[in-house]
Amino acid sequence: MQAIANIQTPFSQKFAIPRQGNGLSIAKGKIKFLPHIDVMQALDGIDAFSHLWILFVFHDNLAQGYKSKVRPPRLGGNKKMGVFATRSTFRPNAIGMSLVKNLGFEDKELHVSGVDLLNNTPILDIKPYLPYADIENTAQAGYAEEKPTTSLKVNFADSVYDTLDRLSTQHADYLPLLVSVLEQDPRPAYKQQQADNKVYHLALYNSDVHWQVLANQNNSNSQAPSILVTNIKIIK
Ligand code: SAM
Repeated sequence: MQAIANIQTPFSQKFAIPRQGNGLSIAKGKIKFLPHIDVMQALDGIDAFSHLWILFVFHDNLAQGYKSKVRPPRLGGNKKMGVFATRSTFRPNAIGMSLVKNLGFEDKELHVSGVDLLNNTPILDIKPYLPYADIENTAQAGYAEEKPTTSLKVNFADSVYDTLDRLSTQHADYLPLLVSVLEQDPRPAYKQQQADNKVYHLALYNSDVHWQVLANQNNSNSQAPSILVTNIKIIK
């Protein structure tokens, strides 16, 4: 198989990419087709479909191979499941599938949103999402029945506001995207709902964001920790 395109996304590092794209509808991607694809012919009719399946290669994991049993984050990382009972990125054939929203074809690129893909991920195929065929009302989803609902409050240190302004000028969606990524708590599942002292980094567009998860320090009823962004560096 040969890739048909690469997708540009705001995520230049795997850590903190949402685990399923439709959980973060704000994250946008641009699909850039390779020269052997006759785009005008091959995309004819696609604008009638609001949602698309994207099949792609987990290209950043190819060197690591796969294991038959993996630890799904949804199970807190402490219980193993067969790889085919999970959406693990380490698979015998490193193929992923994501449901995205079709934002339209413009300037030779197909614009989509709801991406959970690393920047420059190779795309193998695009297919229309067909509700009559792709929705199954009686479906059961084992350990992943419920949509994850974590939503932590995200605060910013005063010192980061200038950089936030600069990045928001470069990327109109920078601030809402950063907040959406952080409020889902990208840390490993066993740390969810707990404060810790570690300073975490995440890469979003051309920035390196430093953040911590702090214990709830006010008297509100919520026991949930909150996130503090302590530093943002622009990467040249
Ligand atoms: N929706 C897809 C699926 O179900 O096949 C992907 C789900 S997978 C759990 C999502 C994770 O894949 C992201 O959080 C990110 O860490 C990882 N990822 C995304 N693009 C990747 C790539 N090109 N290579 C390796 N890992 C990638």
